[in-house]
Amino acid sequence: MRKTRVISIGSAFLGGEHPVLVQSMCATKTVDVTATAKLAEMLKNAGAGLVRVAVDTQKDAEALPAIRENTTARLSVDLHENYRLAELAAPYVEKIRYNPGHLHHGETKVSWQDKVKRLADTAGEHRCALRIGVNCGSLDPARKNDGLPMLASTLEHADFLDSIGFINYCVSLKSSDPAMVIHANEEFSRRRPDVPIHLGLTEAGIPPEAVLKSRAALEPLLVQGIGDTLRVSLTVPNHRKHEEVEAGFMILKNAAAGTIAVPSDLPQHGLNLISCPSCARVENDRFVELAVKIRDAVQFAADFPISIAVMGCRVNGPGETDHADIGVWCGANHVNLKRGTTPLGTYSYEDIVEKIVLEVRRRTTLPS
Ligand code: SF4
Repeated sequence: MRKTRVISIGSAFLGGEHPVLVQSMCATKTVDVTATAKLAEMLKNAGAGLVRVAVDTQKDAEALPAIRENTTARLSVDLHENYRLAELAAPYVEKIRYNPGHLHHGETKVSWQDKVKRLADTAGEHRCALRIGVNCGSLDPARKNDGLPMLASTLEHADFLDSIGFINYCVSLKSSDPAMVIHANEEFSRRRPDVPIHLGLTEAGIPPEAVLKSRAALEPLLVQGIGDTLRVSLTVPNHRKHEEVEAGFMILKNAAAGTIAVPSDLPQHGLNLISCPSCARVENDRFVELAVKIRDAVQFAADFPISIAVMGCRVNGPGETDHADIGVWCGANHVNLKRGTTPLGTYSYEDIVEKIVLEVRRRTTLPS
């Protein structure tokens, strides 16, 4: 069995022979201290060993002391472009996640190595762990042409952290495609058997299909001993977020019993609805409801091999819809529609479902 090195996340340990830690993420606005602390507490009570919150702005970071006071959940911050916010956040959390792809968006004169060094120094000073969180939809531009870009980027950052003597980190290699998640994690684990791995299928979508897709990605890895922590991402309203934790424990139980997902359990190769779980960055509270409406409205095309990606914000939406046949990402008042990488326009929350249905009809009636 694979035995990774042990890292510490506050009072918890990851890796080695420690049990796989199930985690989840708040989808409340981080500045809404009451709602975020309440959701973190609910997730902790459901069994989450770590709860992530998004920190994109100074105001988000400034909310952390009060969130910390109002929950006993272990907290991780999810950073985007503004890596410097780690310095404000670190005293109040146990872990910091950064995405190598996002370090290239701002301060272009500062090398990614200098940025990571600064993150590692901050994490070290406050005894936080780091996660190198690589995502297929937001890759480092310099790595996009590598054979398996996620793998190359993760290895590069892991090697760099080792070289500066920071080893309290884990990695994640996430995609919305279960086969890619399996392949990337198997390869990383083969190349770096010592580094703890956070498993997850990103933008898994709406249950129950999302749970089946997550099983397909995670169970085959767990039975090989790959994975030290995991998160199941579900597009559900906040009051149902505990389902992410329950699904995580169910997946661990299946893997332990060897009853892993088999092809006949899984969604067939027809329509593939990819949707993000939402987070603090979501720009309109109607996002989850919209994703469900879209899922229901396109069922007529269930047997057609079309992928539809539905994303909650402008931060990740434009990039993470590029690989889908039809992409939708939400702004505060309007929803953007794409065909592949081509923008088709913006529509109101009231009109977008009909536009998507028309687009799906157009595709399904095209001669093959
Ligand atoms: S697409 Fe945006 S709203 Fe959805 S999970 Fe990603 S960052 Fe959050």
